[in-house]
Amino acid sequence: MNNGGYKGRIAPTPTGFMHRGHAKTFLAAQRRAREFGGRLILRVEDLDGDRCKPEFTDALVEDLLWAGLRWDEGPDRGGPSGEYVQSKRSAVFVEAWRDLISQGAIFPCECSRKDVLSAVQAPHDEGGEPLYPGTCRNRSTAFWSESEALEWNWRMRVPDGETISFTDENLGNLRFVTGVDFGDFLVWRKDGIPSYELAVVADDIAMGITEVVRGEDLLLSTARQLLIYRALGATPPAFYHCPLVRDASGNRLAKRDKAQSLRELRAGGMDPKML
Ligand code: GLU
Repeated sequence: MNNGGYKGRIAPTPTGFMHRGHAKTFLAAQRRAREFGGRLILRVEDLDGDRCKPEFTDALVEDLLWAGLRWDEGPDRGGPSGEYVQSKRSAVFVEAWRDLISQGAIFPCECSRKDVLSAVQAPHDEGGEPLYPGTCRNRSTAFWSESEALEWNWRMRVPDGETISFTDENLGNLRFVTGVDFGDFLVWRKDGIPSYELAVVADDIAMGITEVVRGEDLLLSTARQLLIYRALGATPPAFYHCPLVRDASGNRLAKRDKAQSLRELRAGGMDPKML
């Protein structure tokens, strides 16, 4: 890795209060950026307009500062600045979507989630998503206008049985098999917003991110995203996946587990160094 040029990011989704698991992953991202003498960006991933709330964005900035996180670029206490907030970056995502179409990498899809569920008998990927049965794969990509095309769901055309391997900076060599571990996944939603997979890749490229530090729950997403990098002709960053923080019963923490939220821990007088 080019040490001087290291650029990492922390990318929270403001659908609730941040918990200890988020802080741990973000602190690992901060540690990596410092080890490499690099920069850290805070990017707010608020594309899900129904579930993301501005008050959670304000709260997360406050909570992350309490947890000891400091970033070089991105929203600060003064409130989010558009450049680092995904809901303000649609031009970047539309551009990536256009590139994927011109590469023949995606297809418009009419299937509802229910259609997909009922068409597939058994296979589900590790994340519990049904493997897409290919119903719309040969559908034409020609539309009357771009705005009409943007009102469709679009899926990535995932090759059958290709091994995707990469070396994780924390976990070592990993491999996934396309069409087995995951199938044709959504990159664009008919409500006009990109899927997480596309938005995160388009932004990581646009922001020049050299290493992505994220939780192990996103390993399968990383494999999917490698296909997007390839289709866009972009060099992927390095990846460092962190173990998930679990509660006393072994379940991973969720935003609804109030007791583990940074707010509650702070209110309870916890020393953030103990996170
Ligand atoms: N916003 C995503 C999350 O909170 C970011 C994950 C990532 O790509 O690092 O899960």
